Amino acid sequence: MTDTQTSKIDDLTSRFRELHRLNLGHYDSYAKLYSDYLRTGTRFFDMPTGIVSRISDGQYVILAVEPETMNLASGDAMALGDTYCSVVVDRDMTVAVSHAGLDAALCGHPAYREMQLEAYLATPIRVNGEIYGTLNFSSPQARKFPFDETDVELVELMAGRIGQIIEQDQLDRERQTAICQLRENTELFESAFEHAAIGMALVSLEGRWLRVNNAAIELLGYSETELLTNDFQTLTHPDDLDKDLGLLREMLSGERDTYRMEKRYFHKNRQEICALLSVSMVRDENGKPEYFVSQIQDISAQKRAEAELQQRQKQLEALNDRLEQLSTTDPLTQLNNRRALEERLHEELSRSKRTGDPLSLLIVDVDHFKRYNDTHGHPEGDQALRALAAALSDVSRTNDTVARLGGEEFVLLLPHTDASGCCAVARRLAQLVSRLEGLRVAITVSTGGVTLVPDIGSIRIPTADALMRRADKALYRAKQEGRNRHCQAP
Ligand code: GH3
Ligand code: MG
Ligand code: MG
Repeated sequence: MTDTQTSKIDDLTSRFRELHRLNLGHYDSYAKLYSDYLRTGTRFFDMPTGIVSRISDGQYVILAVEPETMNLASGDAMALGDTYCSVVVDRDMTVAVSHAGLDAALCGHPAYREMQLEAYLATPIRVNGEIYGTLNFSSPQARKFPFDETDVELVELMAGRIGQIIEQDQLDRERQTAICQLRENTELFESAFEHAAIGMALVSLEGRWLRVNNAAIELLGYSETELLTNDFQTLTHPDDLDKDLGLLREMLSGERDTYRMEKRYFHKNRQEICALLSVSMVRDENGKPEYFVSQIQDISAQKRAEAELQQRQKQLEALNDRLEQLSTTDPLTQLNNRRALEERLHEELSRSKRTGDPLSLLIVDVDHFKRYNDTHGHPEGDQALRALAAALSDVSRTNDTVARLGGEEFVLLLPHTDASGCCAVARRLAQLVSRLEGLRVAITVSTGGVTLVPDIGSIRIPTADALMRRADKALYRAKQEGRNRHCQAP
């Protein structure tokens, strides 16, 4: 081996040793990292200038330069196309040129015309498999000896280590950010959970309470420890348990992700609590069910108010029914009163006008009733009126209307009844009245009838008042003619 060869090997060994030491270093700043590598590189390759660049979006930015000069400083930016590095990026590999003036690719390059850099050794710095920038060394002097394989290997090892450190650092930062976010999220969740106004609980897949918040503790009346040694099933009203468990099963089998139901819990003091329960399932990253999140809202007061409202509504309806009845019923006889009669009379009149069916009306008045009252007393008079009301009901058919006009005066409204029918009803009534039981003395009635037989399509239909007046006149005639008889209006 010649002396030259020996010294070359020595030189190589010492360069790799130095690089190895460099690679073991720890850096707390990029400035230190870049400057160490650049200083070592300028020495290794015997080049006056070394640069670490960042390349993105066609831009070339100097991250560090050794040595800094008036013309080159970190932070300087230029178009990638104006630098030799565009060749590195295009070829995506190390470029080693000892004499650019003689190199086909570089002698026509804009950077050559601008800066006349003759020697150039540059390699990509890769981060996550992408070109992040370059590590490059240059000299205005052409080299006596061309770059050899060792130079290329060394510069690639250096760029490799720089890329590795950048990648590691980026990962560390990402992890740090993720950890911060997680911590923030956890704190946020903790605070939301603890201070939620409604009860919240984390429940295991078997139904055990894993965590409960203050509102849940207050709602159920048990201490946290008591709740955590219990399951929700024990505190659930037995009538609501099946539905609850059914919905949970549907969540576990993946049929649903949430459910909401009204259910009853037992408070520690055994009182029932009405709650609106909303449950969601939390799954791990593989979709496997982990636990349930339950929200429990006490709606007992709301339910009580609802029940009370319903009760009031019912009372109101009953009262309305009663009022309605009162407004259409005569209290002494329970027959229709004058108002109800008027309504029915209007209906029957317009129906009769439509169909041409005859309609009859009979006014009934007790004879000498004042005398009956005066002799036997008012209560006996009332009794007689009730007995008469029963007779009127007996004589009437389903579609007839029986009403008390007031005092001892009654009306029978008889649809589909002609004058002879009307007279027949009056006769039957007189018979029934003559046989009334429970009276102090027998009473008689006088009746006045009127019958309407409308011509179909006729517009000349008498009003209800006119009809009543005609019946009244007939009644007056019956009284005049000696009472206890029927008179039919002409
Ligand atoms: P007329 O044969 O002319 O009809 O004689 P009358 O006595 O029946 O007629 P009047 O109209 O003079 O008297 C009606 C009487 O009916 C007066 C009152 O004593 C009686 N009366 C009215 N309303 C009631 C009631 O609600 N209960 C009782 N017991 N009597 C009543
Ligand atoms: Mg009268
Ligand atoms: Mg009378």
